[in-house]
Amino acid sequence: MISTNGQYEQTRWSLEALLPASAGEVVEQTVARLEEVTAAIETWRPKLSPEMDGEDFAAILRQTETFAELASRLGAYGQLWFSEDTQNQGALAFMGRMEQLLTEAYNRILFFRLWWKAVDDEAAARLLAYAGDMRYNLEQDRLFKDHTLAESEEKIVNLKDVNGISALVNLYDMMTSKFLFELEVKGEKKELTRDQLMVYVRNPSPEMRTAAYQEQFRVYEREATVLAQIYIHRVRDWATENVNLRRFSAPIAVRNLVNDIPNEVVDTLLDVCAEQSSIFHRYFKLKAGWLGLPGGKLRRYDLYAPLSQESDKEIPYPEAVEMVLDSFNDFSPIIANQAQRIFKDGHIDSEIRTGKRGGAFCAGILPGVTPWVLVNYTGEPRQVATLAHELGHAIHALLAGDHSVMTFHSALPLAETASVFSEMLLTDRLLAEEKDPQLRRNLLAEAVDDAYATILRQAYFVLFEREAHRLVAEGKTMDELNQHYLANLSQQFGDSLDLSEDFQREWICIPHIYHTPFYCYAYSFGQLLALSLYQQYKEEGGGFEPKLRKILVYGGSASPNHILSEAGIDMADPNFWRSGFKVVEGMIDELDSLS
Ligand SMILES: [Zn+2]
Repeated sequence: MISTNGQYEQTRWSLEALLPASAGEVVEQTVARLEEVTAAIETWRPKLSPEMDGEDFAAILRQTETFAELASRLGAYGQLWFSEDTQNQGALAFMGRMEQLLTEAYNRILFFRLWWKAVDDEAAARLLAYAGDMRYNLEQDRLFKDHTLAESEEKIVNLKDVNGISALVNLYDMMTSKFLFELEVKGEKKELTRDQLMVYVRNPSPEMRTAAYQEQFRVYEREATVLAQIYIHRVRDWATENVNLRRFSAPIAVRNLVNDIPNEVVDTLLDVCAEQSSIFHRYFKLKAGWLGLPGGKLRRYDLYAPLSQESDKEIPYPEAVEMVLDSFNDFSPIIANQAQRIFKDGHIDSEIRTGKRGGAFCAGILPGVTPWVLVNYTGEPRQVATLAHELGHAIHALLAGDHSVMTFHSALPLAETASVFSEMLLTDRLLAEEKDPQLRRNLLAEAVDDAYATILRQAYFVLFEREAHRLVAEGKTMDELNQHYLANLSQQFGDSLDLSEDFQREWICIPHIYHTPFYCYAYSFGQLLALSLYQQYKEEGGGFEPKLRKILVYGGSASPNHILSEAGIDMADPNFWRSGFKVVEGMIDELDSLS
């Protein structure tokens, strides 16, 4: 939000555009409208046939869109409310009621999608001509033809998930959001949230960095057996449903199909990441030298150490917002205008509060409705990049706003394109303005640190998950998973740094592997894609802007392969992924020459 004196302020967000209040007439009216449209869709059941009239088919699709719109309003309201205050009883009750209600409603109209998946190819091709903007969504559905269960089974899975695996993952969030961490800062004991604690892993003092990591592991360790057990259940449930019942070839194959990325492409991406890890190894070794660390070697604790010793550099929130918006404006006033909407509409929650979900995210709920952005803005310079990142997501959702509610969300691997590109715009602007070689080095090093965290670290999370899902199926324990995680880190870092054993528990601190198994390669995908697009922008200049917008405007209305091929990108080619690493290598070369 913007205050009266024209400055941006850290605030809570407003969810009014979804529902004016968490209870009362509008909520009940929305629930009633959902019931109406559910009943209307049910009346089509006896009329479904491969010979059905195309206009009738289009009419059902419009009703399912209305259903999705109402369901998104009700469901997202609960989830966003829960994110802003994970301990709020009202939010939990609302979310619980909606999950139950929406699952039951969704189950009643499930027959339509099941029928659609099973219809013969010829009829499907004829009916697709009436699908309008929903075409790709319907085509995607049919990809799951061989992995679909009987209607009654699908219903049971949905119903049991609400209080089963989904509830279990919520408990993980509730437990970990409550964690408080203690750290001695300048002789004073501080109580911190995890986001506040993690600021200190980028502290100039090696002791502070160590203390921050050790405190993180100390607090997670107290609940380690429970948290690990939640993960083991998550993994077992994933295998039971997807491998045993739905007959996917491997646990990761589900995610790949949801993403509409061929298994081989994901393998190529992960292989190239492992192959190119030496680029980062070189960087870590150089960094140890620049930092003048004893023994000339980086410890894992020092991975994100800043090159400058100047500490406590804080960027006030209003300044951060201005910086980000200015960097957008330099690239494209159209894009900057879109980003402004988040602030004008009060759709950003930027305060620090206990109980608020950690990290940052952007939720684009409905086409044409300004997305919601959550950040935990601590003033740390890096948080400016996070702000740019999340606003990039919001821009993507706004640009795709002309699509159907079913097709405006981009597939996960393309979902990080605008966000990472936005971070690059910010970094480049800061580099262009900075003449002091010392500070330029810091900026570049931070960009390489981020590239590491987004590309290599995330790819190795997925490599860990691949193994973890295999090990859990073999009945392995938490201790064995810890050992495996440590081995994964050893491969990732080679001999480029000293790894201490306490990092073996890091995996229980990673919400993504609980929430959305195998999600993280989308980050590696997105960052490497954005890096190579950014390279194109540098080569082509202003003429590039419409090209990027074209990719973003698609949203999720076409397959990643279609969208990228049109932009001249072949995601099956390992050299495409290597070209992203080349950009990082260029940054490391520049850093080397500055030193
Ligand atoms: Zn993102």
